[in-house]
Amino acid sequence: MTLFDSPAFEGHEAVHGFHDEASGLNCIIAVHSTARGPSAGGCRMWPYPTSQAALEDALKLSRAMSYKNAVADLELGGGKAVIIGDSRTGKTPALFEAFGRAVDQVCGRYWAAEDVGVSPADLAYARTQSRYIAGLDGHPAASGDPSPVTAEGVFQGIALCVRRAYGGGLDGVTVAIQGVGHVGGFLADKLKAAGARLVLTDVNTQALRAAAERTGARVVEPDAIFDVDAQVFAPCAMGGAIAYGVLDRLKAKVIAGGANNQLATPEVGRVLFQRGLIYAPDYVINGGGIINVAAEIRAIDAEAAYDPAWVQAKLDRLMLTLDEILERSRQDRRPTHEIANEIAKARIVGARA
Ligand code: NAD
Repeated sequence: MTLFDSPAFEGHEAVHGFHDEASGLNCIIAVHSTARGPSAGGCRMWPYPTSQAALEDALKLSRAMSYKNAVADLELGGGKAVIIGDSRTGKTPALFEAFGRAVDQVCGRYWAAEDVGVSPADLAYARTQSRYIAGLDGHPAASGDPSPVTAEGVFQGIALCVRRAYGGGLDGVTVAIQGVGHVGGFLADKLKAAGARLVLTDVNTQALRAAAERTGARVVEPDAIFDVDAQVFAPCAMGGAIAYGVLDRLKAKVIAGGANNQLATPEVGRVLFQRGLIYAPDYVINGGGIINVAAEIRAIDAEAAYDPAWVQAKLDRLMLTLDEILERSRQDRRPTHEIANEIAKARIVGARA
């Protein structure tokens, strides 16, 4: 298994592997940076085909969390946990208790929250073993599921991009959403309420049917989402959706969604820019969820209550940052993801100094 020579390693401070025989837990906790504060990022449960695939995902996601937390101006570094397993069949209380013990062994250098395949109910078991678990329900500092705040930021970010690309609001605009889980589902509801037309897909037919019934959306097969005649393409499933193979199929001028690591490679982002598309950098537009989690970490540390006004102020500021990135991209003729990376790296280096 390669680690230090992995392209995604890029200066990670620590990478931990945990195995618990009794519960069957196999998990990786990657800590990219603690320069701005303890690292924080979600825990993903996914049936990775190999431990190398899990490691690569953990490294990519934790580095993105460093950038995301810096751009959202949070006093947090970047980290991520991945549990190797199928969230539909492999979840047990013992597994998440073992995960909590793993987090505790990182001694506060990593705070966990939800990501794909993991819910607040799962994390409640982890919390019995460690205080470094956020995104919970049922105590004064608790922030609950971060997905609605993530979806609110993505919704506002789509509106910003649409105004720039087409000069109007969301009424009558067609949005193709890939993945209608937690984030994509809330996003679909918000877009519907704003008058957008929706085309949805998901590999989970039950989730897809439920979202379509709620919103009156048209549904398409997973692969057909790239061919939809839409003004906005919103990736809200797994990473790597924007790859060379789909670029010629996309009709939308705006790519803006909730998924992490949307660009298969940085070069794809460059091609999007050269073709005149507006790409909202993923870790900027989807930063609402970690802002919500940060509010809980802050409240736990101060033994205070969750403060929704603080979350709102941070989200408003993040949307201004997104707009600044889009404007700099237009003026300097450079891809949005490169500008976002520059801002994030400068803030991390500044904190380290
Ligand atoms: P989720 O598991 O609730 O939803 C993901 C959905 O995508 C599922 O319904 C799944 O069936 C579907 N999916 C998977 N592969 C697909 C494919 N090839 N085509 C179509 N659908 C597919 O997860 P979520 O919490 O909604 O997160 C979605 C994305 O947003 C992830 O990339 C996650 O890392 C990112 N994200 C989530 C949050 C949050 O607050 N939940 C915050 C920031 C980023």
